[in-house]
Amino acid sequence: MPGGHDQTLRPFLWRAETLYEDTEIVSRTHEGIERYTYDEYGDRTAQLAHALTEGGIEEGDRVATFCWNHHRHFETYFAVPTIGAQLHTINPLLPDEHIRFIVQNAEDRTIFVDHSLFPKLAGAIADADDEFDQVDRVVAMGETVPEGADDLPVDIVAYEDFVEGHPTEYDWPDIDEDQSAGMCYTSGTTGMPKGVEYTHKMLWSHTMASLTPQGIPMADDDVVMPVVPMFHVNAWGMPFTATAGGSKHVYPGPSPEPEDIANLIENEGVTITAGVPTVWMGLQDYMQDNDVDLSTLDTVIVGGSAAPESMIRWFDDHDVTLLHAWGMTEMSPLGSVSHLKSDLENADYETQIDRRSKQGLTVPGVEFKVVDDSGEEVPHDGDAFGELWIRGPWVTKEYFERPEANEEDFEDGWLKTGDIVTVDTDGYLQIVDRAKDVIKSGGEWISSVELENAIMAHDDVAEATVIGVPHEKWQERPVAFVVPGENADESTLDEEVMDLLREDYPKWWLPDDIVYIEEVPKTATGKFSKKDLREEYAGQSLIEETEVPEDAAPDDD
Ligand code: ADP
Repeated sequence: MPGGHDQTLRPFLWRAETLYEDTEIVSRTHEGIERYTYDEYGDRTAQLAHALTEGGIEEGDRVATFCWNHHRHFETYFAVPTIGAQLHTINPLLPDEHIRFIVQNAEDRTIFVDHSLFPKLAGAIADADDEFDQVDRVVAMGETVPEGADDLPVDIVAYEDFVEGHPTEYDWPDIDEDQSAGMCYTSGTTGMPKGVEYTHKMLWSHTMASLTPQGIPMADDDVVMPVVPMFHVNAWGMPFTATAGGSKHVYPGPSPEPEDIANLIENEGVTITAGVPTVWMGLQDYMQDNDVDLSTLDTVIVGGSAAPESMIRWFDDHDVTLLHAWGMTEMSPLGSVSHLKSDLENADYETQIDRRSKQGLTVPGVEFKVVDDSGEEVPHDGDAFGELWIRGPWVTKEYFERPEANEEDFEDGWLKTGDIVTVDTDGYLQIVDRAKDVIKSGGEWISSVELENAIMAHDDVAEATVIGVPHEKWQERPVAFVVPGENADESTLDEEVMDLLREDYPKWWLPDDIVYIEEVPKTATGKFSKKDLREEYAGQSLIEETEVPEDAAPDDD
């Protein structure tokens, strides 16, 4: 039965346009800083909706974007789903082969592309067999089409020409809340990326949960800047939450550098921003040599990978609250946020830091359990590890056309997250590792994530990651890869790092080697790519060169 407007995205835009017509949407684009109001945003969204329907897009069709964060991309966020089509945000940093696969798998009909990303898309199209055959049109995000557009075997039009002249009102259809609104692919550990479809109801309930004080609330006095890309799980849902709350939006545009982020915070008065830890490491570095006024900033949401404890303290020193959040593409993406429980508000600072550096408390609406290898639930004692299983209204129940992955990753209505966690007596989840990254030494588990965070707490370490390297006797042993900070003295850093680790960890946890590298390779979503390191160092026997401690497993302690 059609659900009318009860749990769809449309009412969020209606509210912003009606109550906050003068609130601004600001965007850094290839053309400079552009700004307009919700009023104009609503008009342009209606125009885009007309352009799409006149261009042949029908209910259920998929429309793709290949774009950074900016106002035109945001226009597709409401225009596409509210005409009943599905917005498929493609991660342009994926390898060409994956891009071809997902465009074909999703059967995208139209693709919106940024000028700076056009060569990447054109390259993927040029080497395609029939993967782009169903694509009718490419729309270039701007006033012109990019250089090289004539060579494209698909029609291409400039965005402003595409929308121009269309009416600024649209008779929005009644959409069933179970209709798909969005789609995003998640990188699989093996094989091609897996598609996750978001229904209106999933995005609606995700937005409502985000708006609660236990989520990531945004209101009409907030200025919200998602640095997390709009191709990465809808920029963690922030464009929807900010609209529902009537906030001002700020979009940092193509490949924002720390300087761009700093300027936007200062000039636009950003109050809430969000991104993966590497983004904030960049800002921290930048602020070593540059003064940046962070006085308007209340909250930085950090997720995607663990926020180092040192980063939480650094933001505290700048009077900004770092809120650590955990989520997944499969969960639209919000799962937990590390708010302090009220009875911890008066706890000592170190206790608070301990809780705040965990992945936090599940947001209202989702349920979890933590299951060990034998399928038993583990106690909530802060020590016992297990795999986190989760379910809730905005958690997907299946992958798009991937029965084998469904079989593996879902059971009895639960999503098996692949994250290995502990839960403490206060209910705070802590990700100890990804199931695929946890290091198995002598039959016991070592958390690569804990070691990384401990190493990164050293002032002279810029970045660090730890992987398990195969070992004859112990099965696997940890090896650390460290990017030294600018002033580091490499001749003493090894010992200093090891001393630091010795303070908190048993001997068998200590890395067998520390390898200095210039940069930790990153995935398409900006996370440390252990897969790349494993591949790069697979042939090199790091361990044989080092002396393995006799007590490399707990049994020998
Ligand atoms: P992928 O990066 O694999 O394409 P996602 O972006 O959906 O997919 O990433 C989800 C995974 O990222 C989670 O299962 C978890 O392992 C990791 N993750 C997300 N947030 C955090 C966090 N705050 N701390 C540690 N790990 C996190």
